[in-house]
Parts: sequence; C-alpha cells; structure tokens
Amino acid sequence: MKQPLIYQVDLTKIHGEGDFPCPNCGVVISPEDETENVYRILETKVKGQTLEELVIQCNKCESKIHLVGFIIPE
Ligand SMILES: [Zn+2]
Repeated sequence: MKQPLIYQVDLTKIHGEGDFPCPNCGVVISPEDETENVYRILETKVKGQTLEELVIQCNKCESKIHLVGFIIPE
C-alpha cells in the first residue's frame, strides 16, 4: 500500500482568497469549498476558540495537507 504524502501549508503565506494548489498534484483547494469534491477534512484541531490546524486530504492524489496559520481574531 502506498503511503500518503504529507505536506504543510501555511495560510499566512497565501495571498488572495485563501485558495491554494495542492502541493503534490496542483489541484486548487479552496477552504470555502464545502462540497468535498476536491478534498475532505480529516481532523480539526481547536485551541480554545481558535482553529489551530486543519488536516485535509486531497481527493485527487490522496496527499494529506496540514493547514496552519489561521488568522487569530483579536
Ligand atoms: Zn493533490
């Protein structure tokens, strides 16, 4: 069985609407997309009221992507 690739994407380094290409296959992943056509959410890590990390899996290439750097509301 093939091991899934694991990447980390820092959202503070992404410009625009927060869309980013999958680091492996390049498919555009939009955090606003709730259809699960492109990716699905595996894990949500919350610290207090703040979303700290989101682990998603690309449906196209099966890579696991750790999303960090969510904007922390003051
Ligand atoms: Zn991918």
